[in-house]
Amino acid sequence: MAGPLLPYGRQTIEDDDIAAVAQALRGDFLTTGPLVDAFEAAFASQVGARHAVACSNGTAALHLAMLALEVQPGEVCIVPSITFLATANCARYVGAEVVFADVDPSTGLMTPDTLAEAIGRVGDRRLRAVLPVHLRGDTAELPALAALAAEAGAVLVEDAPHALGSSMSFGDTAERVGDTRHSAMATFSFHPVKTIATGEGGMVTTNDDRLAQRLRTLRSHGMVKPQGADPWIYEMPAPGFNYRLPDILCALGLSQLAKLDRFAARRRALAARYAEALKPLAPIVRPAARPDWSDPVLHLMVALIDFAAAGKTRRQVVDELRARGVGSQVHYIPVHTQPYYRDRYGPMDLPGAEEWYRTCLSLPLYPGMADEDVDRVILALSGVLGL
Ligand SMILES: *Cc1c(COP(=O)(O)O)cnc(C)c1O
Repeated sequence: MAGPLLPYGRQTIEDDDIAAVAQALRGDFLTTGPLVDAFEAAFASQVGARHAVACSNGTAALHLAMLALEVQPGEVCIVPSITFLATANCARYVGAEVVFADVDPSTGLMTPDTLAEAIGRVGDRRLRAVLPVHLRGDTAELPALAALAAEAGAVLVEDAPHALGSSMSFGDTAERVGDTRHSAMATFSFHPVKTIATGEGGMVTTNDDRLAQRLRTLRSHGMVKPQGADPWIYEMPAPGFNYRLPDILCALGLSQLAKLDRFAARRRALAARYAEALKPLAPIVRPAARPDWSDPVLHLMVALIDFAAAGKTRRQVVDELRARGVGSQVHYIPVHTQPYYRDRYGPMDLPGAEEWYRTCLSLPLYPGMADEDVDRVILALSGVLGL
């Protein structure tokens, strides 16, 4: 019998998280207060970056990154087609044009080859930023992507909401996602399905003092306090936004961040159990591939399914899984096929993205799952697919 529905992802909020929020509510600052600085400092130290700038959500983080870089109308940003809408939309917020890169259909990631091909489509426009997405939690090949971007006069901005806690090794040393060793900035989201949750929430990390200063100014209306000026004085060199993350949510973020190691260990254990349990379902079902350099804390457990060979449509599989108590989701519809982008740039042939989209299905993965829940998912999936 189907138990309660297992969603594809969900937050883990515990009593001490609730107590931390309640304490912030009793404090003097509901919005900009000491917990903002404390959350930023803890986050920067967690990922190994010099600066972390908190903001209202992951989309605001991307927008702030574009503004901090001063990306201009008509300039180009390269974005993989397999991502959430916001990765592309942030370029449009500042009037820049999006060139969509294809992805490797086994990982869903932009690769040096697909980036090089996309750079070829920039033409004589100015390329400003390349936005690799660490889809599912596995990391893109940053050193090679950064070298290609640099050759074209652009920088990397990592869209990293899936990869908090992930690391990668190119050569001898392990690097943490968010340390921005290869990029100008990395952006994060604390949406409830992400690795830590604040409801709405986001962060930008960088090692660049000037970018950090710009991010801080831009998230609060563009206001700056001139040194030594009278206490009521502020100046606005250019308009910014209200993209602040309130103290209340920073209290939750701090409390959640302290649990990251435990959440990550649980995600790793569940992912390992999935990897074993999915083996007998090959070749109809394969987990998304792991690049050699990647040591992920998976955000999404994506199975790549040959629906035709199983004799079912994805819709049938999704519905029948649901009837057996297993939620699933598709990450993502290729962004270049969205009506807005298709109208703006015309139809496009990105075969890797299309293949990924045809085969991908995200299965439940979140720290609150029991080992037996994984077994339940696998039993349901093999039953539905007749394997
Ligand atoms: C969640 C997510 C975002 C947007 O974050 P919000 O906090 O929901 O605005 C952007 N990019 C990727 C890859 C995401 O997963």
